[in-house]
Amino acid sequence: MIETLRREAIINQAIKNGLLPSARVSAALANERFSAASFVVNNPATDEALAYVEQQSASDTEAAINSAKAAQCDWAKRSSRERAGLLRSWAQALLDQQEQLAQLLNLEQGKPMHEAIGEIAYGASYIEWFAEEAFRTYGTTIPSPTDGQPLLVVKKPVGVVSAITPWNFPNAMLARKAAAALAAGCVMVAKPAAETPLSALALQQLAVKAGIPAEVFQVVVGTESTCIGRVLTQHPAVAKFTFTGSTAVGRTLAAQCSSTVKRLSLELGGNAPFIVFADADLEQALEGLLLAKFRNGGQTCVCANRILVADEVYDEFAQRLQQRLATLQLGPMIHAKAAGKIASLVREAQQQGARLMEQEDYFADGAWLKPAVLTGVTESMAIFNCEIFGPVAPLVRFNDENEAIELANATEYGLASYVYSQNHGRLWRVAEGLEFGMVGMNDAAISNAAAPFGGIKQSGYGREGSSYGLDDYMYIKYLRVGGL
Ligand code: NAP
Repeated sequence: MIETLRREAIINQAIKNGLLPSARVSAALANERFSAASFVVNNPATDEALAYVEQQSASDTEAAINSAKAAQCDWAKRSSRERAGLLRSWAQALLDQQEQLAQLLNLEQGKPMHEAIGEIAYGASYIEWFAEEAFRTYGTTIPSPTDGQPLLVVKKPVGVVSAITPWNFPNAMLARKAAAALAAGCVMVAKPAAETPLSALALQQLAVKAGIPAEVFQVVVGTESTCIGRVLTQHPAVAKFTFTGSTAVGRTLAAQCSSTVKRLSLELGGNAPFIVFADADLEQALEGLLLAKFRNGGQTCVCANRILVADEVYDEFAQRLQQRLATLQLGPMIHAKAAGKIASLVREAQQQGARLMEQEDYFADGAWLKPAVLTGVTESMAIFNCEIFGPVAPLVRFNDENEAIELANATEYGLASYVYSQNHGRLWRVAEGLEFGMVGMNDAAISNAAAPFGGIKQSGYGREGSSYGLDDYMYIKYLRVGGL
């Protein structure tokens, strides 16, 4: 009960401080409920109701897009200096409220506080980075091939952008899309996952507090994701749609965008290989794996999903990894259903010959799962082929460099990959051979605002972060002047 009251107090405080909009959110135990329809946000650690949030509909989404469209021209006309200043104030507002934002994130998504604090800093770093990059949307001049009159190329904002984001990084996934869009001179209407609307609403509140007009960055929330999604992907005023989520949903949304030929960025699922050669610094590889596999309880798109270990060091690596599991501090999975699905994957692999280290059975306790190492995993098992999204490390044995590359590439996904070796010739050869958008070479912390984050194959297309991330929100306009 004390814990329930503490959670209630955090939500109430956030409403009182204006971090959450009082017109759209109430704490779960509050006597006053909305007259409008609402949906419940649960705390994954306990499955208790945390807050009620105003339910928005397809027509609310249309209204948001129409008002964003009306604001587009003014926002695009503002100088890059002005937009950059507003973005910097927004980033600072996040850092000023880092602790409170992290508490909301911890409550609705479940990641431990130290990780939640890290996510807020990570989200703010994208806003700050794109504030700087807003000054650098340079064009080019091209010498004319015929008459000496130059051809000019300028970059322009694409216009109204719609976005859908997942629950696993409810602050950062949205911050890095919105920051790039706004820096480029676009306006955005975004829908976060129904499990985690609070962090997105808080992000919007802080944007307004920083001076960004309310119509320029809008958040639509609700459980009617199919209806809201149809408007976001089919409204004719939307020039670009950007999505982060599963490949299955990404396929559907991309098809919906085709009727109005929208520009698309898709950040989809992953199945990252983590390759450990016999000549790797095993301690460095273990440290990297703990981060790449277990951050956010294994619920990240760049999580090491298949750990490919050279035969010579396989048993030692498995033992040392198992010993390190006791040092981990994990939160719950997003809900009991997700945890149950992961437990079933493990049990299925066991039935097919894989072995759990130091555990007999693997069951979910509500949304909670223990971290685990699974040895003897082979290419034919489902756990090798699908995105696990949980704290289970499946270890696969390989014999040589070619086999490692072949196993690593044996997936429809192509987001992140990791390779560990002290032989730099091998490191480069393998990195060249990996069919993935990102390769960590003796490094697992691959994601930062200055780097182009994104995938190939069925992990999607488009990049977030870096100047490439800004280009994704701009189109190229070519100008030719005659009669000079
Ligand atoms: P998901 O089921 O695809 O949902 C993602 C978002 O799409 C949510 O906001 C969800 O809303 C919405 N959605 C689902 N079905 C929809 C539909 N028919 N129409 C419109 N919207 C729809 O994915 P998830 O389980 O939340 O997130 C995990 C996935 O995201 C993993 O595959 C992970 O790899 C991927 N991910 C990728 C990246 C990357 O950068 N590549 C980063 C993070 C996560 P509701 O929840 O409200 O239904």
